[in-house]
Amino acid sequence: MLYTETKSFEEIEKLIKQEESIFLLGCGGCAEVCKTADEETIAEIEAKIKETGKSISGKLIVDFMCSKHLLIKRLARYQELLDGCSAILVFSCGIGVQCAGAVSDRAVYPATNTISLGGFQGLWPGEERCAQCGTCYLGITGGICPITFCAKELLNGACGGAKDGKCEIKTERECGWVLIYERLKKIGKLELLKEIQQPRDFRKIEPDAKLRKTIHFDIDR
Ligand code: SF4
Ligand code: SF4
Repeated sequence: MLYTETKSFEEIEKLIKQEESIFLLGCGGCAEVCKTADEETIAEIEAKIKETGKSISGKLIVDFMCSKHLLIKRLARYQELLDGCSAILVFSCGIGVQCAGAVSDRAVYPATNTISLGGFQGLWPGEERCAQCGTCYLGITGGICPITFCAKELLNGACGGAKDGKCEIKTERECGWVLIYERLKKIGKLELLKEIQQPRDFRKIEPDAKLRKTIHFDIDR
C-alpha cells in the first residue's frame, strides 16, 4: 500500500489553472483507504473547482488504478465524458497518476502527494514506480515521474548526457526527460517546462518521526 495525502486546494488550483473542463478519477485501492479518493473528498474538491468557474465533465472511482489493463477497460465506458474534458485530476498514489497518463491522451494532474511510511510498500504490474517523494510532480511532467524515471532525479529538464534517447547513467533505459518531453509535446503542454522548479524538500521523503525505527544508544552507560 502507498500512503497519500490530499494536496492543498491552492496547489490543485494552480495545477489545473489552464484547464476548462476536468474529469475526476479516483482509485478505490490504497487511496480510498487513506481517505484521499473517497466520494466525500472527491465531492469536496469538485465543489471547490466548480466555484472557480471550471466544469466537471465526469467522475469515476476505479478499483486499483495501478493495473493499466483494468483502467483501460473501465475508462472505455466513460469515453464520451473523457472526450469532453481537457484534463484528468487523479486522486491516487503516484503509480495511479502515471497509469492514467499512460493510457490517456489528456493532461493528468495529481490531487495527492504520495508520502513515505518507510519500509517495503508493495508490487505493481507495470513499469511505473513511485519513490513516495512527498511532493508529487506528475502534474508538470505529463504523468511521467522525474524521480523514478531519471537516474539523477532531476526536476528541471534533462542533464544533457542522453544519447539516442538513452540515459547516460543507466544506459539500458530510456532517458526519463526525453520521455517527459515527448509526452508533454503529444498533449500540447510543453509550456509547463518553462516554470523553474525549486529544490526538493528532502524532509518529505522521511517517514513520520513516530514511525521510524531508530535505535537509541545510551552513551552514559
Ligand atoms: S513525483 Fe514520482 S516519486 Fe514523487 S510522489 Fe509523484 S510519482 Fe511518487
Ligand atoms: S540522461 Fe536523462 S534520465 Fe539519465 S540522468 Fe540525464 S536527464 Fe536523467
